[in-house]
Amino acid sequence: MRTITDIREMQSIAIQLKREGKTIGFVPTMGYLHEGHLSLLSAARKENDVTVVSIFVNPLQFGPKEDLATYPRDFERDSSLAEKEGNDYIFFPSADEMYPVTPSVTAKVQDRTDVLCGKSRPGHFDGVATVLIKLFNIVQPDKVYFGMKDAQQVAVVDGLVRDFNIPVEIVPVQTVREEDGLAKSSRNVHLLPAERDQATALHQSLKMAESAIDEGEQDPQKILARMKEFIKKNTSGEIDYIEILSYPNLKQISRLEGKIIIAMAVKFSKARLIDNAIISVKKES
Ligand code: AMP
Repeated sequence: MRTITDIREMQSIAIQLKREGKTIGFVPTMGYLHEGHLSLLSAARKENDVTVVSIFVNPLQFGPKEDLATYPRDFERDSSLAEKEGNDYIFFPSADEMYPVTPSVTAKVQDRTDVLCGKSRPGHFDGVATVLIKLFNIVQPDKVYFGMKDAQQVAVVDGLVRDFNIPVEIVPVQTVREEDGLAKSSRNVHLLPAERDQATALHQSLKMAESAIDEGEQDPQKILARMKEFIKKNTSGEIDYIEILSYPNLKQISRLEGKIIIAMAVKFSKARLIDNAIISVKKES
């Protein structure tokens, strides 16, 4: 496995690989790798000749009061995990390498950002879209792997790739969870021990919602109310949002019908966690 920190070097490796007719599978990450990231890498390994994992904590996607400075980082550990998974290249640029000057052009996401994380983290998806356009041009992937834990990101990137005619296939990968259901996340290390125990309530509340829907509940508001009550009762976290929307369009719905997403963000003392479930609700006959 090779570590590349220089944009031009990464780009010329990618161009050479393409000339040789090799396919490139790409996994963009912010590092502090866990089994969620590794499941993306494992899918990329199976479906491509060469894999590239990028590790870049992108300042553009963090708000002024967010955790850019404290985001967990451990390159040595990441590097050995990626190597064990059979990865070929780690692209690990510095912020100065990626943004040597203030960018003169950035992306603005117009749709699907007035809800969920787009609403509570203004500018977040503009930062994500901007860095991905750069990374796609540098790494030139055939396929790019994203986790469904960040389902809104998948929907937004789908729009980005379509609107800008970027020749890359997006491959969504299921959320990898801890044994008790908590979605794996780099930010989980910032949970206090008691919060770590409580955090399983996020997934439990999603399961509860799924059961209620299975039993015929059709009113999103009733489900949301039950979920909020459950999270308030079982955690010390502060609910940032819980929403039920259509998926992948992320529009408000008044009845549970078709493909929907139930998504939430909960703020603990030093970590804001997100989770979601995507459910296909049968239409009433
Ligand atoms: P991050 O490093 O948090 O930016 O995540 C990089 C990629 O890994 C994104 O596509 C995430 O959706 C994905 N990812 C993060 N956590 C998980 C997880 N628990 N299961 C599957 N994919 C994940």
